[in-house]
Amino acid sequence: MISKILIANRGEIACRIIRTARKLGISTVAVYSEADSQALHVSMADEAVLIGPAPAKDSYLKSDVILQVAKRLRVDAIHPGYGFLSENAAFARACDQAGIIFVGPPAQAIAAMGSKSAAKTIMQQAGVPLVPGYHGNDQHHDVLLQHANDMGYPVLLKAAAGGGGKGMRQVWREAEFTESLNAAKREAMASFGDEIMLVEKYLTQPRHVEIQVFCDSHGNGVYLYERDCSVQRRHQKIIEEAPAPGMSATLRQQMGEAALKAAHAIDYIGAGTVEFLLDEDGRFYFMEMNTRLQVEHPVTEKITGEDLVEWQIQVADGHPLPKSQDELRLHGHAFEARLYAEDPQHDFLPATGTLTLLRPPATSEHVRVDTGVMQGDEVSVYYDPMIAKLIVWDTTRERALQRLLGALRDYHVAGVTTNLPFLYNVAAHPAFRQAELVTTFIEKHYASLF
Ligand code: ADP
Repeated sequence: MISKILIANRGEIACRIIRTARKLGISTVAVYSEADSQALHVSMADEAVLIGPAPAKDSYLKSDVILQVAKRLRVDAIHPGYGFLSENAAFARACDQAGIIFVGPPAQAIAAMGSKSAAKTIMQQAGVPLVPGYHGNDQHHDVLLQHANDMGYPVLLKAAAGGGGKGMRQVWREAEFTESLNAAKREAMASFGDEIMLVEKYLTQPRHVEIQVFCDSHGNGVYLYERDCSVQRRHQKIIEEAPAPGMSATLRQQMGEAALKAAHAIDYIGAGTVEFLLDEDGRFYFMEMNTRLQVEHPVTEKITGEDLVEWQIQVADGHPLPKSQDELRLHGHAFEARLYAEDPQHDFLPATGTLTLLRPPATSEHVRVDTGVMQGDEVSVYYDPMIAKLIVWDTTRERALQRLLGALRDYHVAGVTTNLPFLYNVAAHPAFRQAELVTTFIEKHYASLF
C-alpha cells in the first residue's frame, strides 16, 4: 500500500498532487531546486529535499538524484506530474528496478508513444483513424517531398520526437518545402536531439478534441469523455473546455471507443490522453497519445466529479478502476484558462519578474484556482511561465462562460506582464461564445483580441 509518495515536480501540479495525497492520508516528499526553496510546493509537503541548481537539467530532470532521495526517504511511489520526467521511459524503468511505484503507465507504453511516427504505425495497425500523412523511416529529402506533393498542399512537417509545438512547420506550396524542412529539422535537432520528420496533411479548420482514458492493471478501461482544446497560440493550449460543444452522443462514444482501442493496443495502465483532430464533417483523426496526467485534467474532474490524481494513485497501487463506464456521469460544463506570464502583443514572449500583487478570485464549487505561486514570488526564466490555472464550472456552457468572465475580472496580478486581459478578450469574443472553435481561432481573431 502506498503510504509515502515523492512528487518529482514543482509548481501548481506538485501542489495539486500533494492535496490529493494528503486527502488519502499519504505522506508527501517534495523535491526542489535552489530557485524554489521558498516555493509553495515545498511548504505544503511533509518533507522536502534540495536536489540541485535552478536549471531543470540540474535538478528536476536529475533522475538519478531523485531516485536516491526516494530510496533514502523510503518512499513507496513517485508521481512525476507532467513535463520533466513524466514521459521518460528510462526513469519509469529505473523506478521499477528500484522497487518504487512509478505513478504512470508501464515504461514500454511510454516508449511506444514517445515517437509520433512509431505511435502512428501502432495505431494504424490497431485500426485507429490517423491524420493522413507519411510517418516512415526513409527520411531522404526527395522522398519526403514526393509524399508532400502526392498528398497536396498545405502539409505540416512535424518532428517525430516533438512536443510543445516545437519542430513544426506549415508548408503551403512546393517552392517552400525545402526551406521549411531544413528549418523544422534544425529546430527539432536543437530541442529534441532528433530530426526525424512526419509529413501530415495540414487540416485548415480542425478542432483539437482529446479523450481522457484510464486503464487499470486488471484489464479494465474507461473514457472520461472529451476536452476541446482548440483555442491555442503557437500550437499550445490556452483555454480548454469539457465537454466539447456540439458533440453528439454517437460521436462521443465513437471517439471514446477509438481512444480505448489506442490505449489497449499498447497495454496501457493509468491516466492517458488520446489527441484527435476533428473536422467539420465529424471525421476524427489520431494525432498522438500523451502518457501522463494533462495540464487540463481539472475540466474533466469538474464534469465527472472524479479526482483523477486519486484514480492514478489507486491504479498505481494495483486497485481496479474506481468506476466502470456505466457508472460515470457527465454533468455540466467546465472551462480552464491558463494564466501565463507572457506578452500576447509580442508573439507571446515569456515574461519574468516579481509578483508584487497576486489576488485570485474567491473559490467555490464554481471557481477553482490551481497555482504554485504566492504573492512576492519570482517568475524566473528557468521554468514554464504559467502562474495559475483558473477552472470554472456550471450547469450549462453559457453559465460557465459567465463564471469564467467574472472570475477573470476578479483576478488581479501586478509586477509581471500576463495574458489576463487577452484571456478575457478571448472568453468575451462572440465567436467563442458561439463555440466557433477551431485551432486557428487566435490567428483568425487576433486583431480583435486587444
Ligand atoms: P505537440 O506534441 O508539439 O504539442 P501535436 O502533434 O500535439 O504537437 O500538435 C499540436 C497542435 O498542432 C494541435 O493541437 C493542432 O492544433 C496542430 N496540429 C497538429 N497536427 C496538425 C495537422 N495535421 N493539421 C492541422 N493542425 C495540426
